[in-house]
Amino acid sequence: MSPAFLRIRSAIYRPWLMAMLAAAACAALLLSASFGLVMHQVQQTEIEQMNARGERFLDRLEQIFGQLRESVDGLNGQGLQGCSPAMISALQQVEFDNRFVYDAVYTDDQQRCSSRPGEPGASELRDPDIKGPTYSYWLNTTTQPDDNLAALRLGRGAFTVSTSRGHLTDVVDLTPGGSLLVVLDKGKRAVPVLGPVQAWPPTSDWPPPSQQALLITRDSLIYRMFTKSPDYQLVLIAPRTSLLPKMNAALWALFPGSLVLAGFVGWMVLLLVRERRSLSAELQGALRRGELKVLYQPIFDLNSRRCVGAEALVRWRRPDGTLTSPDLFIPMAENTGQIREITDFVLQQLLEQLGQLLRANPHIYVSVNLAACDVMVPRIGRVVARLLAQHRVAAHQIAFEVTERGLIDVVVARDNLQALRDVGHQVLIDDFGTGYCSLAYLQTLPVDCLKIDKAFIDALGHDAASSGVAPHIIRMAHALQLRVIAEGIELEAQALLLTSEGVHYGQGWLFAHPLNARQFMELVTRGRRLNGRRLDDEA
Ligand code: C2E
Ligand code: CA
Ligand code: CA
Repeated sequence: MSPAFLRIRSAIYRPWLMAMLAAAACAALLLSASFGLVMHQVQQTEIEQMNARGERFLDRLEQIFGQLRESVDGLNGQGLQGCSPAMISALQQVEFDNRFVYDAVYTDDQQRCSSRPGEPGASELRDPDIKGPTYSYWLNTTTQPDDNLAALRLGRGAFTVSTSRGHLTDVVDLTPGGSLLVVLDKGKRAVPVLGPVQAWPPTSDWPPPSQQALLITRDSLIYRMFTKSPDYQLVLIAPRTSLLPKMNAALWALFPGSLVLAGFVGWMVLLLVRERRSLSAELQGALRRGELKVLYQPIFDLNSRRCVGAEALVRWRRPDGTLTSPDLFIPMAENTGQIREITDFVLQQLLEQLGQLLRANPHIYVSVNLAACDVMVPRIGRVVARLLAQHRVAAHQIAFEVTERGLIDVVVARDNLQALRDVGHQVLIDDFGTGYCSLAYLQTLPVDCLKIDKAFIDALGHDAASSGVAPHIIRMAHALQLRVIAEGIELEAQALLLTSEGVHYGQGWLFAHPLNARQFMELVTRGRRLNGRRLDDEA
């Protein structure tokens, strides 16, 4: 990792700052998620309401038109003419018998009479808005918001009948600014039946190609009602301005919950970072007081069962005797940068403890685990070169293990790994198969060996989907002429299966647990497993 990155990371790695960042991120996430959810729900409700409103409107309109047509047909059928008392009573009877008829009017060249004498009625009737072969229609005959005024008129011959605004609006309350329109001339013209005149056409591609009833634009909901007549269509338009106030209300309800949850997350992060900070302070003390030890887990030739080397593994035993797992403190040390001190310590310890053994057994090697920040700068090459010169050990006897996760910046890592190989070190990819290394990617990396992760060794011989991974990795490694080490071998059957697959090297509790330096030296010098028994972890 670059020094600038490390500086930024240590500047951010403060408990309160981390907690506040986590809380802010959590609050932003929760609020935007709630916002999205509320928006979706409000829209959904709005769409459902519009659908229901449109359907109710259509039902009512069909009832009204049916009754108006029947009434006007009935009046024509009676054969009455002129404004006689019989005509007036016939008009009044029609109004009385039909719930949706507001008034009935007779007009000829000389006379005009209505079932409601004295009301303006059809007196100022303009030309019809729709002139069909049988019926004529007058739409929006009043724009006043008075439910007791004729709003829609239908005529045949000398008779016209109307319905009131109230009959159109009592099943649905038209949203403010909304309109019910009759669309004529194949969608070219729209006349409002109720509500204000609307900009027409409502969309640039009107009439829309789909047969969907509801269309949603940025500012309005448009509900199309297909009628039986090809001459006209009904359209309900409602503005979408009502969305924001509804959303505000819902958001205010979610806001406190999100804040409480964000506060809780912040608090948890604070505790976690504080704990890690205290662990990191303890580790610093442990390094100073020499509480860290290095163990060596032997690596074997699977055919001859002879030890060919070891992996150096660090242990932290506290003064009270408890062991802290490297799985706990190594990731933390990688975050705080303390890992560099640990890597240096491991290299130094191993050369001090095993320098003589390595000089006497040039075929034996020890591999050291490197963290991402060790791979991102050339420092480690200088440290190991100095120690090797001091202990007169050959570079090929020290190998380096890097995980796929450790290769964050492949270009930089590749140069540094190549530099280590150039002076004779071996480079191994650790935990292979758990990261993102593909074959194509692997080909470009300067490596000598793959270590197959324990998880895939465990799966060997089982039916699990991962049981085929190890053989696949082995074939891939052979194709790239890389050596393979299987780690975490616990059973003889696993060792035999791996040998039959062409794996030459293995490490695991079947052969030996991690050993202290003295035990490892004994193992190498005797060239066989100690006392014929498995060797146990000697931290
Ligand atoms: P790793 O590099 O994959 O090391 C192998 C781990 O598997 C070791 O755990 C080893 O004790 C364990 N192991 C070996 N054979 C068997 C087996 O047959 N069965 C089981 N169940 N486990 C087996 P350990 O020592 O606890 O190390 C854990 C991890 O900590 C290591 O995984 C490595 O990533 C890290 N680590 C340990 N020492 C160092 C170090 O000096 N530097 C760095 N950077 N990381 C280290
Ligand atoms: Ca390793
Ligand atoms: Ca490993």
